[in-house]
Amino acid sequence: MSLKLVVIGAGPGGYLAAIRAAQLGARVTLVEQARVGGTCLHWGCIPTKTLKATAQALEEARRLHEFGITSAGQFQADLAAINARKQQVIDVQTQGIEKLLQAWGVELLRGRARLLGPRRVEVELTRGGGACLEAERLILASGSRPADLPGLARDGVTVFNSDDALALKDIPGRLLIVGGGVVGCEFAFIYRALGSQVTLVEALERLLPMPSLDAEASRLLQREMKKRGIRVHLGRVVGELRRGPDGLEARLEPGPLLPQPAGAKTPPPVTVPADKVLVSVGRALGSEDMGLAEAGLRLERGAVQVDQRLAAGPEGVYAVGDVLGPGRPMLAHMAGAEARVAAANALGAELAVDYRVVPAVAFTTPEVAWVGLSPEQAAAQGLEAAAHVFQMRSLGKAQAMNELAGQCKLLSEKGSGRLLGAALVGARASEMIHECALALKLGATVADLAHTIHAHPTLSEAIAETAELALGQCLHAPPLKKG
Ligand SMILES: Cc1cc2nc3c(=O)[nH]c(=O)nc-3n(C[C@H](O)[C@H](O)[C@H](O)COP(=O)(O)OP(=O)(O)OC[C@H]3O[C@@H](n4cnc5c(N)ncnc54)[C@H](O)[C@@H]3O)c2cc1C
Repeated sequence: MSLKLVVIGAGPGGYLAAIRAAQLGARVTLVEQARVGGTCLHWGCIPTKTLKATAQALEEARRLHEFGITSAGQFQADLAAINARKQQVIDVQTQGIEKLLQAWGVELLRGRARLLGPRRVEVELTRGGGACLEAERLILASGSRPADLPGLARDGVTVFNSDDALALKDIPGRLLIVGGGVVGCEFAFIYRALGSQVTLVEALERLLPMPSLDAEASRLLQREMKKRGIRVHLGRVVGELRRGPDGLEARLEPGPLLPQPAGAKTPPPVTVPADKVLVSVGRALGSEDMGLAEAGLRLERGAVQVDQRLAAGPEGVYAVGDVLGPGRPMLAHMAGAEARVAAANALGAELAVDYRVVPAVAFTTPEVAWVGLSPEQAAAQGLEAAAHVFQMRSLGKAQAMNELAGQCKLLSEKGSGRLLGAALVGARASEMIHECALALKLGATVADLAHTIHAHPTLSEAIAETAELALGQCLHAPPLKKG
């Protein structure tokens, strides 16, 4: 008799774990309280990228004259039509996942799960009534939801979170975005393209303040925001939000997270007018009210603690995805990678997740994509690293596309030339980053990248050009200055 496995949560972590376990021969029940697809499909990756595609199309339409195309009309955003298209994309993908689950014989149980013991699950069924499941293995994939910010109470209309931002009825005139992480930056470009006046405030000293991202990429992104009229306040937080005679007024104060140099004067507060405020300050974990601690799982600030094999403590219990917390990349493809490992381990394998090569992307304009170590991380690990940069504008393809912003930066180990990391800023960076990811995975060197013939004309040539620079052999760059 095959093993009985229950998965809680049908986001990318849960539904992929369920399918992989079924492929490996388990009898699988997947419990989901909402629609399959999770945050990724309904409130995250897919709806934001659908809106980003709209924003990009609008920007490109407004730039048609740059390509020698004239048009008498004005291009305007129709939010109702945009939202309808977004919903259609979501619906197609949701049905696709449901069909896949069916095809692999995964039983989908709609309801809210709670642990009564390590592998004993009580489900409050959506259709009414309840069910009790006994499992030999359990995979927890209950994900996350938007975090609230004390002092900025959400009403869903004037002060709202990323879920609400995907379902707005009107395009805000003046939008204040609180939080300059990936989500805040992506929405800044989307709503700017749709017509909002956007101001973004970030408590830390740079946008996208992730240790794995090169600080120079953050500065380039900020420059692109400035070009589009997006105002950015770094090192500040919203001290007070009040209603004034002309809408909302947010008082931005110096952020408590940045130490002020001794004797430095505290910068004065700045007042920013706004009609709406989007709070995007991270995620709350989907580990509450589920009986996890009582069932023997260890939690730290809501994050489920797991070992290398993603085992969560009690025998036969595993956890994957966002519920593992911000100590690991909270990304859909990370959840998917963990799902594959957890499902295999639940059925007898001894696998561990490789967290060294995880590409990450901010789908801004231009895109920012990175993988491996940042220069700061390499230095912290005591690695002697060299960084080389090639400007996207030097490429014929970038000129032909009129996508000139950005650069490719490769970090390699001095001596061996082993690739350590890459940070790409530019059009299609999200697609190009995987060449660097594969190179890192295979332990390739900059010579391997430089000696790989790249098709011409492509944006990916930037990677080969940067690698040639690292070898001191770049043909499309002047000689490096000596000394
Ligand atoms: C605005 C935004 C944009 C994003 N863009 C990207 C992107 O471009 N690329 C990327 O890689 N990542 C992106 N992410 C992150 C990505 O969405 C998450 O990392 C990913 O969805 C995590 O997957 P998961 O399966 O762990 O959890 P989730 O996707 O959150 O799924 C968890 C599921 O569990 C269900 N659940 C929770 N508790 C219970 C319970 N007790 N009983 C039954 N069901 C339960 C929930 O309803 C949900 O369906 C984005 C996130 C946001 C918010």
